Amino acid sequence: MAPLVSAFTVLTMVYMVAAGSQVPCAELSDGNLMPIVALGTGRGTAKESESVDEVRKAVFWALEAGYRHIDTAAVYEDEEQVGQGIAEAIDKNIITRDNIFVTTKLWNDNHRREQVVPALRESLKRLKLEYVDLYLIHFPVSTKEDGSPDNVDYLETWQGMEEAKALGLTRSIGVSNFNIEQLQRLLANSRTRPVVNEVEVSPTFTQEPMVSFCQANGIVVMGYSPFGFFVGRESAMNLDKTTLLKIAEKYGKSFGQVILRYLIQRGVVPIPKSTNQRRIAENIDLFDFSLSEDEVATISQYNRNTRVIHPVEWKDYPFYPFEKE
Ligand code: NAP
Repeated sequence: MAPLVSAFTVLTMVYMVAAGSQVPCAELSDGNLMPIVALGTGRGTAKESESVDEVRKAVFWALEAGYRHIDTAAVYEDEEQVGQGIAEAIDKNIITRDNIFVTTKLWNDNHRREQVVPALRESLKRLKLEYVDLYLIHFPVSTKEDGSPDNVDYLETWQGMEEAKALGLTRSIGVSNFNIEQLQRLLANSRTRPVVNEVEVSPTFTQEPMVSFCQANGIVVMGYSPFGFFVGRESAMNLDKTTLLKIAEKYGKSFGQVILRYLIQRGVVPIPKSTNQRRIAENIDLFDFSLSEDEVATISQYNRNTRVIHPVEWKDYPFYPFEKE
């Protein structure tokens, strides 16, 4: 298993402390620095009563609590609120634009090469930013505007991503939900390497082969749905939290903090979503304890090899990345 600090340098740690946050950075393969915890703003787990304005507040609270990385996407339909939260934090001198890291993503219906730059410009307009730090192809599958399958090869999409980077609209480019074969094909057929693959990783979906492949190829794994089946879905998996709670008690931390720390120690950048101010602060308070190697291995035993996010309705679409059932 990769040691915690393998991807970090003393220089990057100092950089973030200077920026008023305790969050270390990973160095991406293009030389850019990425804070190793991101606030998730996807609304898949949002309660019906949770308005999209909660995202604005969450982003502000997160930046106030020391987050320096926000994860959004065109398809979340909350880039505007993310931008408002950022603007508020800049106004209040909590951050400057150049010490936060913003990730957003290209949706499936904009995969033609000539659609990529205009789609990113639309995202930037909603975010009220001049550039993002990281732009990702959200899924390798492409669709028409009505959601029906299209057949645009992600290698074509990638050329549009390279153009976006060359124009300075994004500092780095990467992918999300690519499987290992798709990453291999992209690496073999492109001039610019993807710096990130954002995929589901949690104690209940540990993804060892994907994490090892990415780490061996200099691709940072951002881990979405980091709490896996431990939030609101325990019963579906018959999960017993006792082991996790015992570890949490030993360190005086919550089970959520132990899960996030576990991912960090596996070299994965977790993306916890919360719109609750207390949990937002909790989810970044991860840098004053360390799990033993045995504890990391024990937590991996929760693996059920089952995805939270599994869009099987696309299983017959070209370039579908996941197992088909
Ligand atoms: P998640 O972060 O694993 O879980 C979010 C849920 O956990 C919410 O119900 C939240 O409730 C609760 N929670 C947060 N912190 C907690 C804590 N410390 N203790 C207990 N419960 C806690 O799941 P997710 O939203 O699916 O994934 C996170 C982010 O990953 C998304 O927001 C999005 O940015 C990204 N994502 C990306 C993709 C992709 O295809 N690239 C797919 C899915 C997700 P409260 O809000 O009430 O705290």
